[in-house]
Amino acid sequence: MPPDLKTYEAVIGLEIHVQLNTATKLFCDCRNQPGDAPNRHTCPVCLWLPGAMPRLSAQAVEKAALACLALHCTLAEESAFDQKVYYYPDLPKGFQLSQHHKPLAVQGWVEIADEEGNPRRLRIHHVHMEEDVAKLVHETEGRSPISLVDFNRAGAPLIEIVTEPDMRSPHEAMEFLKSLRTQLRTSGSSDCSLEQGTMRVDANISLRIPGTEALNTKVEVKNMNSIRNVGDAIAYETVRQAQCLERGDSITLHTRLWDPDQRVTTAMREKFAGPCVPDPSVPVIRMDEAWLAAIRKRLPEMPAAKAQRLAAAYDLVPQQAVAMSQEPDVADFFEAAVGRGVAPHQAAAWITTHLMPALRDRNQALGETRLTPDRFAGLLSLLDQERIHAGAAREVLLLMLGKEGTPEEIVAEGGFLQVSDAAELETLVDNVLANHPTDVADFRKGNPKVFGFLMGLAMKASQGKANPRRLKELLSERLKNL
Ligand SMILES: [Zn+2]
Repeated sequence: MPPDLKTYEAVIGLEIHVQLNTATKLFCDCRNQPGDAPNRHTCPVCLWLPGAMPRLSAQAVEKAALACLALHCTLAEESAFDQKVYYYPDLPKGFQLSQHHKPLAVQGWVEIADEEGNPRRLRIHHVHMEEDVAKLVHETEGRSPISLVDFNRAGAPLIEIVTEPDMRSPHEAMEFLKSLRTQLRTSGSSDCSLEQGTMRVDANISLRIPGTEALNTKVEVKNMNSIRNVGDAIAYETVRQAQCLERGDSITLHTRLWDPDQRVTTAMREKFAGPCVPDPSVPVIRMDEAWLAAIRKRLPEMPAAKAQRLAAAYDLVPQQAVAMSQEPDVADFFEAAVGRGVAPHQAAAWITTHLMPALRDRNQALGETRLTPDRFAGLLSLLDQERIHAGAAREVLLLMLGKEGTPEEIVAEGGFLQVSDAAELETLVDNVLANHPTDVADFRKGNPKVFGFLMGLAMKASQGKANPRRLKELLSERLKNL
């Protein structure tokens, strides 16, 4: 029998690794481009050869600090690196430089909308910096399985964000990640792509009886490469643990992997936590007030503030302002289009109802398309001049995402031009009226519904290209004078 989930409450905390988009690695001058050809970006420091001394990257500390400010954290006056000791083929030096005892920042929060749409703050326990490990690539050579090591990622700068166990449902965990991603992208410190691996999420899940405070043994789930997967994995794990408890089995601390094809979690290993000892080679980071003030000034306008400003400055519907502010490049695009003469309410409506859904469908960022504010403004001006109608404008907009050329050229090429020519429209209307004498008679007897029917026929005869306003005028005029 499936367990009664109302008996239990899920307690969810997340640990999120985010790769900072710095030019170089955390402790050396090698390029921070883990996706390049294997082992292109290595040196004695990031190959972890004995005796090589790490040099902390100032840019990595700046980007990490920007991220912490975007998450409303308090930066520690003093933070320091520890050696987190464990041995694994992707970490041959035997320890990872990470901030365990003195993290970079503490006590932040991210705001989400809960299932009823009410704002809810989810707390962040701390944020620390650490170096990434190398990447293991498993292949076969002849019949033998072999493992290769790619050191491009070794020493790449990461921050790890550890939340409080504040989330109670897959929905809240997914909303948290979306909101976190928006804040971090806006801060300019990371691309935060689960698909590309620049954001990696571990979820800690335990169950308890609602109303009790105790935190039970948690299970860690890894290997989710989309926000949707995180939600699915948490939902699956909640049911699995409830079934264990119903059977009277105890839950042990361990790590499980999400299998996106089978849509289940499978046990991976006992969770291992090695000792952490202070590292003597990297200097302590001391926050200087003047430095921090300068970083604070560099923090771009954050989504919540941007939404408020756009709504007030351009008199927009709040939902449209909020939606555009989630993506910094979309909000910039909106303001650029308005700067080119598009009416703010028109630009906002087209961006939120046509452009943003199209980008989501294509899984593309605005910058990856060929649409520019200039071309967008050009298209909407064709619409305003009634040279194309709204349906055609929408199709042309979609074409412009992947196609060069002025809006006029694309409109002409695709035959989207609206027919406004009086003589052409008159012939259309006259033909329709001549071919439907019974309906015309009906209309003259006082059945107003026939008008829409005749209008539809005329529009169809024009293959949808007639200027609807002029067509309507012409049809009423003709019917009146019959
Ligand atoms: Zn290096």
